[in-house]
Amino acid sequence: MDQVASEVEEIIEKQKSYYYSQKTKPVSFRLKQLQALKDGIKKYETDVNDALKKDLNKSEFEAYSTELGIVYEEISFSIKNLKKWVKPKKVKTALTHVGSKGYIMPEPYGVTLIIAPWNYPFQLALSPLVGAIAAGNTAVLKPSELTPTVSAVITRIISEVFPSEYIEVIEGGVETSQTLLEQPFDYIFFTGSVPVGKIVMEAASKQLIPLTLELGGKSPCIVHHDANIKLAAKRIVFGKYTNAGQTCIAPDYLLVHENVKEALVEEMKQVVAEFYGSEPIKDDKYGKIVNEPHFDRVASYLNDGQIVFGGKTDRDTLKIEPTFIEGASWDSPVMQDEIFGPIFPMFTYSDLSEVIEKVNNRPKPLALYLFTQSDEVERLINSSISYGGGTVNDTLMHIATPYLPFGGVGESGMGSYHGEGSFHAFSHMKSVLKQTTRFDMSFRYPSAKNGLAMVKRFFN
Ligand code: NAD
Repeated sequence: MDQVASEVEEIIEKQKSYYYSQKTKPVSFRLKQLQALKDGIKKYETDVNDALKKDLNKSEFEAYSTELGIVYEEISFSIKNLKKWVKPKKVKTALTHVGSKGYIMPEPYGVTLIIAPWNYPFQLALSPLVGAIAAGNTAVLKPSELTPTVSAVITRIISEVFPSEYIEVIEGGVETSQTLLEQPFDYIFFTGSVPVGKIVMEAASKQLIPLTLELGGKSPCIVHHDANIKLAAKRIVFGKYTNAGQTCIAPDYLLVHENVKEALVEEMKQVVAEFYGSEPIKDDKYGKIVNEPHFDRVASYLNDGQIVFGGKTDRDTLKIEPTFIEGASWDSPVMQDEIFGPIFPMFTYSDLSEVIEKVNNRPKPLALYLFTQSDEVERLINSSISYGGGTVNDTLMHIATPYLPFGGVGESGMGSYHGEGSFHAFSHMKSVLKQTTRFDMSFRYPSAKNGLAMVKRFFN
């Protein structure tokens, strides 16, 4: 066995015995740990900002609004609501169970594994951890190797705040991740790409480990002719070009009604200039692509259509301008893979039935954005297309409220989290029936007279 594997095994053994010592379960313990996590992050806030700047050129504003702020909010919301969430919920009992009581009791899974991606490297590692702690688990966290400065800060915070038998960070790449996936975890929370999601699920299936998969995909953005075009342009540019398009729920491609295409494109051009100036690749507020292989992959999509706007690239700074393209074929690479970069292919439609058919012909998306003033159009799209979650008349914002569970469906993932959803994701909902001993309904026993007639009366 190699050294990583034996270290990993040792950590998991330590976490198992810590978990079975019952220390992680009292609500008072969980609340204290959540507060300690928040204090630890606050202490290193400058380091988190610097690391996000270094790894992804995130501005302080973007770092706070899309990473730190979301984690703080997740912690505060859990602290505020945890006492309510942990309470067993009473349920009704069936006629056949007269005299008994039923309840559903959330219990932690035990020793959990969290694997995170690089695009929101702080938030996507720490937000699930909030759920793990709130639900009473121990956790091993594997941040992304592609954002090493952020991963190092995460290690520093966690090792200072928590003992390793409770929470531990294990940094490393694919091999480390695969070693972790061979371990007997009680639950796995994975955020990342669809192909790696399949590998994770296959590994989990070998030990029947329950899991949540937060994956990606191509999220459509639909702009109907009755939309408020000015506002739509602003909100689409915001959603598409935040983090230079490297957002799992970024609008991936545009489906715009033919009557409003020109107006929308003109507005979007102006909004790009308003947000990032006339030369966005030189603007310090505008993000960079994470590394050269991803830069080359995204830049190659520029050949898949005609450039309507943008198109400049700079390999030295890893920046690609906010770009709109048209005329791409549905079979071209830009329309086959999740773009995960600042290139926006545009298509027009004349009837919503075309939109429904196009979207339903591909894997179920993680997000969908619809811009319309019509409740009827909203109903039509929402009842005809399956997707993880979305926003009507805006982009990205459904991810930022703790009241809406966030997750995918089909190829975009399974399970969900955020707010109470995170507590549920990291909890097993144990059903308990407490039977009365005051009397005994004997019709179910094989010796009962008229047993069959009674059973037929109850179960019909
Ligand atoms: P990725 O799947 O390449 O990597 C994610 C994690 O898995 C990393 O920690 C990595 O080390 C590990 N990993 C990579 N290859 C592995 C393998 N063969 N076996 C085991 N582990 C492996 O994803 P990424 O490039 O870091 O992130 C981008 C993807 O994540 C995009 O597809 C995006 O849509 C998705 N994403 C989804 C969400 C969401 O909430 N649904 C959020 C952010 C990103």
